[in-house]
Amino acid sequence: MNSQQFQSLSEHLHTLNFIELKRVRHQVEQMISSNHLGHVMSDCEERINHCPYCAHNKFIRYGTTARGQQRYKCKACNKTFNTLTGTALARLRNQDKWLQYSDGMWLTEKLRPAAKKLCINFKTAFRWRHKLLAHPTESRCQPLAGIIEADETFLNESFKGRKKSMTRKSRKRGGGKVTKVPVFLALDRQGHVAHQVLEADTKEELSAAITPILTPESVLCTDGNLSYQAIVKKLPYELEHKRLISLDNERVKDGIYHIQTLNNWIMRWKAWLVQFRGVGTAYLEHYLAWFRQMDSFKEEQPSWVDVAIMSNITNT
Ligand SMILES: [Zn+2]
Repeated sequence: MNSQQFQSLSEHLHTLNFIELKRVRHQVEQMISSNHLGHVMSDCEERINHCPYCAHNKFIRYGTTARGQQRYKCKACNKTFNTLTGTALARLRNQDKWLQYSDGMWLTEKLRPAAKKLCINFKTAFRWRHKLLAHPTESRCQPLAGIIEADETFLNESFKGRKKSMTRKSRKRGGGKVTKVPVFLALDRQGHVAHQVLEADTKEELSAAITPILTPESVLCTDGNLSYQAIVKKLPYELEHKRLISLDNERVKDGIYHIQTLNNWIMRWKAWLVQFRGVGTAYLEHYLAWFRQMDSFKEEQPSWVDVAIMSNITNT
């Protein structure tokens, strides 16, 4: 379109009434979304190098899907696939709305308004949220380096969002006591965060969560919890461990060793969680990954959709 045509188009826009403008906006948003997805998918097509079913690297182009995506056929297992096969977005409908939905997630948009805005149903909005969080959640165990702050926090157990929630007796009503779910968290001073919802608050569970993120070069800072001391002793290498014991009122050692960065992160995460009015324990990891991403990409926020589509490539 040349500048004259563009000028004339924008002049025409001024003549539209409110309803017509809304219609145009809807159309433009859909076009931007499809266009963006098209770019990401073609980028993905260029980089695709293995079959998502058997990981074989020999495959041929095999027509296109009903939505116009390139289809491939694996020479080893004979299965057909496309760029979305194996990602959380495979077989999801309404592609033209994904991007707008993803943008809303950076604003922690609620499900009902998001569903209403995009004319999708509530269940779809719920499913998309958790599909888009699947890959960020899988990559939760990031390697940490240098000074590592580690701690646990506890949340009330919740069966929200689970179909069979009522088949299990509610602990709260039963004995008046609410079960607490332990969550292990750790971060380094470069801003990398690792997290894991634990099955139980035991040394074994804690050890399984913390050991993979430690290296002999790291310095571990924890509170006085004796489990950490026992875990460090069992490591196959010597690890510097700084225990900040609250009874001694010692919050910082040597001016740099403390767990305040982590405690601050946990405080902000819990404050952010409040707006959901209770998160189902089964989805807790997703809400950890969601906040972690929001917290680490403050300026340039990648599309959750791009991350999901590219997960096939980055997994290898
Ligand atoms: Zn194959």
